[in-house]
Amino acid sequence: MFEIEIEDETAMLRFGAQLADALGGRGAVLISGDLGAGKTTLCRGLLRQMGHEGSVKSPTFTLVEPYEIEGVCVYHFDLYRLSHPDELDYVGIDEYFSNETLCLVEWPEKAEGSLPSHDLELSIDVTGEKRNIRIGSNSQHGTRICESLKS
Ligand code: ADP
Ligand code: MG
Repeated sequence: MFEIEIEDETAMLRFGAQLADALGGRGAVLISGDLGAGKTTLCRGLLRQMGHEGSVKSPTFTLVEPYEIEGVCVYHFDLYRLSHPDELDYVGIDEYFSNETLCLVEWPEKAEGSLPSHDLELSIDVTGEKRNIRIGSNSQHGTRICESLKS
């Protein structure tokens, strides 16, 4: 577990870009933090770095937004409105999480532990315009990503 301080929105976009490079187009990243913490902003920085040029919005009502960017399947989840963890079964959550896809999950706590295994856990805390991101690894891929983010 380590922490990164983010000065402003631009720095959050930059962090998303660094994370994109470190992930190398695959992995599962859980992103916690209150409404307005910057979870979607981080995802936007990440998707843009991968080459996505359109808009990036939180898929609050659809649960998941799929992207295909230069051959990589990216799934951006927002579980804020998940009414019950069982709903993830109906969505077919296991199909999204694979070794060749990249999954970004906002509000993972709404799943109450019913998500497939992940690589990284990010938790964003807000102090004014600044953000503090706590980063934890949950796999070998995650540990390599952490090493790359620290350097
Ligand atoms: P979430 O997805 O966590 O609900 P968003 O990324 O949608 O949050 O919104 C974050 C809001 O906070 C945006 O309006 C953004 O401009 C603002 N903001 C201010 N400072 C920061 C920062 N340091 N990092 C990220 N967003 C910031
Ligand atoms: Mg969001």
